[in-house]
Amino acid sequence: MSPFSVVKSGVRSIALFLNLANCLHEEREVPLPFRLRYDATMLILRAATLGMCMGVRRADRIARETAARARAMGVRAFTFGPLIHNPQAIAELEALGIHVLDPEPLERGDLMPELQGALVVIRAHGASLDAIESLHRQGAEVIDATCPRVLASQKLARRYEERGWQVVLVGDRRHGEMQGILGHTAHAIVVDSVPEAETLARSLADRSCALIAQTTIREEEYAAVIETFRRHCQMVAAEQTICPATSERQQALLDLCRRVDAILVVGGRNSANTRRLFATARDQGMPSWHIETADEVVPEMVGFERIGITAGASTPDSIVEDVESRLASLHRTMTAHG
Ligand code: SF4
Repeated sequence: MSPFSVVKSGVRSIALFLNLANCLHEEREVPLPFRLRYDATMLILRAATLGMCMGVRRADRIARETAARARAMGVRAFTFGPLIHNPQAIAELEALGIHVLDPEPLERGDLMPELQGALVVIRAHGASLDAIESLHRQGAEVIDATCPRVLASQKLARRYEERGWQVVLVGDRRHGEMQGILGHTAHAIVVDSVPEAETLARSLADRSCALIAQTTIREEEYAAVIETFRRHCQMVAAEQTICPATSERQQALLDLCRRVDAILVVGGRNSANTRRLFATARDQGMPSWHIETADEVVPEMVGFERIGITAGASTPDSIVEDVESRLASLHRTMTAHG
């Protein structure tokens, strides 16, 4: 079976699908039976790995179950901050009755009467211990959808700190995941660049330092920070906490780029990993588009024999399917009208 999912715009899809398993392994070489039908078709190929990662998919499922439970109980339901970086998915959850709770007032310790008796889902990025305690204090039931990988980072940070190590978190200090892990420690410090790491490592030269990376940063960025700490500090433990979800999607996109003429990247414009996929496609010299929904499919996208689709780690399956269908139907329409 081919590693790619295939949608074909045209009528002879079964015969084409049978040939495709072979031809997709052949880089850009296409077996003759397939080529004969080529000008009547457009191939839409999906990256072997795309769309929601394990942690986001799990959080999305938990949020939907919670929305249903809240409706049955007649209580309000919230997610602690936006569940995922995708506006359409958030709108869908809102329609199910699960609203986004702004974490800031809660972290300031403000009283929020709407939380009494409410169900609150902690998103995949996690939350600080203070925030969770505040939710309990205000009468909310907390449903933890923190990604197991992020939970593991939180646990590591606490353990190192209990043993007297200086915990250094490597990543974007404004990111919810970093904020959550920080809030599981008393003295952790965040660095998000090599120059910052250089200054901090010099000041911690006589300390034992435990490095923990944000799950979504690039391996090279983390390696450079590790190297900086090893140059300056006597004792450095570098935990391998980067999640493979991002690099798997990147690698699958590179494989896809070798097999298609253009790329569509589907996902929120506020999703960093989606934007990185788009940058990778452009770096490969491919005609590429970053779209959020099927409404952004335009005729220029169907002027190719093979178009590839990938999607960020927070893009729901339904949006990818809508985009595929829209491409296929637009191609059919344009072919019918010459
Ligand atoms: S990217 Fe990895 S760590 Fe982050 S939510 Fe997805 S599976 Fe979890």
